[in-house]
Amino acid sequence: MKKKSIIVLGSTGSIGTQTLDVARWQGYHIAGLAAGKNSELLLQQVEEFRPDIVFSAAPLPPASLPEGTILAASASEVAAYPADVAIAAIPGLAGLEPVRASLSTGKRLALANKESMVAAGELLWEMASEYGSEIIPVDSEHSAIFQALVGEKISEVAELVLTASGGPFYGKDISFDDVSPEQALAHPRWNMGPKVSIDSATLMNKGLEVLEARALFKVPLDKVKVVIHRQSYVHSMVRFIDGQLKAQLGPTDMRLAIQYAISYPARLPTPLANEPLAPTLTFEQPDSKRFPALELAYEAGRRGGVLPVVLNAANEVAVNAFLQGRIRFSGIPALVADTMKSSPSLELTWDNLFAADEWARQKAEELI
Ligand code: MG
Repeated sequence: MKKKSIIVLGSTGSIGTQTLDVARWQGYHIAGLAAGKNSELLLQQVEEFRPDIVFSAAPLPPASLPEGTILAASASEVAAYPADVAIAAIPGLAGLEPVRASLSTGKRLALANKESMVAAGELLWEMASEYGSEIIPVDSEHSAIFQALVGEKISEVAELVLTASGGPFYGKDISFDDVSPEQALAHPRWNMGPKVSIDSATLMNKGLEVLEARALFKVPLDKVKVVIHRQSYVHSMVRFIDGQLKAQLGPTDMRLAIQYAISYPARLPTPLANEPLAPTLTFEQPDSKRFPALELAYEAGRRGGVLPVVLNAANEVAVNAFLQGRIRFSGIPALVADTMKSSPSLELTWDNLFAADEWARQKAEELI
């Protein structure tokens, strides 16, 4: 059987490098790579995988690409290049344009960029149906729900139950005014990039995932629930109308979700096939007082239109400001709440999305 060809958008990040591990496991052909600032790692990847097309946001030294390699002018140009699957792993709303470029070519989109689904869900599904493209989730929770829904009807779903590890501060008696970026970046379970690690510490990651789940599986917001599950072994669950639940469990390793998004509906052997079972599984209700980000996401979802765009943009500004030492950890949800307060309510169109994104980034900067 011919090996699949894949494109990795965000190849030097956490999901990108783990996707290349999966490519090593399965011998996939890497058709294209797009990367941001880390051109040194990108060039190592080019050397190993010999992609047809490459984009680097950082300038590359002259003659550093093998002869015949196409140097693309944008990540979107790589996204549009022919392949079986594109893995969208550029973090933040910056990942949206390449997602659109990929969807407009009819190839499968393995979506790790949750922000684009949060902000533009319905619009992305319209594109997918227009061009006949599949969207398969890579986010572990959404991969779990996707797997639990195989062979089921969405009309028979009572609840999607997202599990949350709680991040590094859950249940800890620590003042959120004094948290340092280093403390917030140290996630206890998952190996992730800085944006999603900070989002996990505030629980905004789970808030974004609630909105992502609603958009991906096209269910009403009040059917999406969150439980704290410290072991991160149950990756999420679906409760059906008869009261039965289906959960997907497994090692906390993103490579398995990446693998499944590429190979679905097939499953393939991996080096993680014989990991031991997790010993104890616990579930508890989230503490939404201490972690207001979760409720902010529900509020954005209820208000609808461009509010999820505003939530996401304000959060991106807040996370960067925190990492730069310009605001406190406790200031992240506060800044998002304040930005949402003064947001105009607009229906979701592409024009309104980009306008709301720009407005919210400016507003959040002002508020800092
Ligand atoms: Mg996740």
